[in-house]
Amino acid sequence: MIFRDITDTKFKGIEISSYHEFDHEKVYYYEDDNTGIKSLVAIHDSSKGPAIGGCRFKEYDSFEQGLNDVLRLSRGMTHKNNVAQIPFGGGKAIIFQESHKSDNLLRSYANFLNLLEGQYISAEDIGISLEDIRFIKKYTEFVFDNIDPGPYTAKGIYYVIKEAINFCFSQPLTDKKISIQGAGSVGMHLAEHLANDGANVFISDIDKSKLENIENPNINPIDDAFSLECDVFSPCALGAIFNKSSIKSLNCKIIAGGANNQLQDLSIANALHNRGIIYIPDILINSGGAIGLTKDLMKRNEVETESDLMNIAYRVREALTESHEKSISLQDTIRELII
Ligand code: NAD
Repeated sequence: MIFRDITDTKFKGIEISSYHEFDHEKVYYYEDDNTGIKSLVAIHDSSKGPAIGGCRFKEYDSFEQGLNDVLRLSRGMTHKNNVAQIPFGGGKAIIFQESHKSDNLLRSYANFLNLLEGQYISAEDIGISLEDIRFIKKYTEFVFDNIDPGPYTAKGIYYVIKEAINFCFSQPLTDKKISIQGAGSVGMHLAEHLANDGANVFISDIDKSKLENIENPNINPIDDAFSLECDVFSPCALGAIFNKSSIKSLNCKIIAGGANNQLQDLSIANALHNRGIIYIPDILINSGGAIGLTKDLMKRNEVETESDLMNIAYRVREALTESHEKSISLQDTIRELII
């Protein structure tokens, strides 16, 4: 078994603390031949409290690709928690998917968390379900097993979309056309909220089975949400979907969705601004899950949690106002929050 603080070392050929995505406190590596686990935890900033964030079980082409992902995502968590005004730091874990997910592997991940002694508290992310987290909880206290964050993330985004439509059109959601990419935990809950509020919702998923049992008449399954002509496009599937080429086929006025790291690089925010599209950055909009996850620890009841979710939209309104007054992108208005 290997458990190492690799922050100030050269590891697998990379000087971790000189790596271009590194501005972190700590990076830890864990490996156990008995269970096949190879995992990284990055702690970006714990000045406001223990680092929290999800764990990804994902195939990576190389160690570097995994390192890059965990560094970017953990930084995003710091920013997101700042925006959500919750007293937690930013962290993230990845498990390199080299074989199938097993109970042994999950137990091994619990051991990694125990060795970190609470510096990082883990939730689920791509490839790790709430069920997995509940299994891991049998072996460590350092996980959030209380709720599925998806519905909370979706509720926060719903309030933001409502606010953004009101800001741009001075109109309610009724009959507004919203196109959602990804009918997973976030996308489907978001679709329901919007449709129940009278919006005309279109939703796509590469997994067609996710679109089979839709009963709400205001939710319409489609093949391609990305280029549909609409008022709001909501990416709730993958990151890095906006690049110089892909944004040419967008046909929306506002982008507001839950997917992490949607821009291939930050210059795309200005390219969208120059095209007259309002891009609401993910860290400004998708912190509802972190609010939901930490509500029990912070002893927030459902009413207080709902008000915390609505506050996400108030902060977006402030940013929209500033962006409009200064004629700059929303990404530029939140620069102070994220540097
Ligand atoms: P999920 O895995 O439940 O759903 C994602 C869905 O997207 C899946 O149904 C998948 O089939 C679909 N998909 C993948 N590629 C697609 C494509 N090219 N086109 C259309 N659909 C595609 O994940 P989720 O929990 O709903 O999260 C969605 C996104 O939001 C992820 O990027 C996640 O990292 C991010 N996010 C989630 C939360 C949360 O609380 N769950 C919080 C913050 C950010």
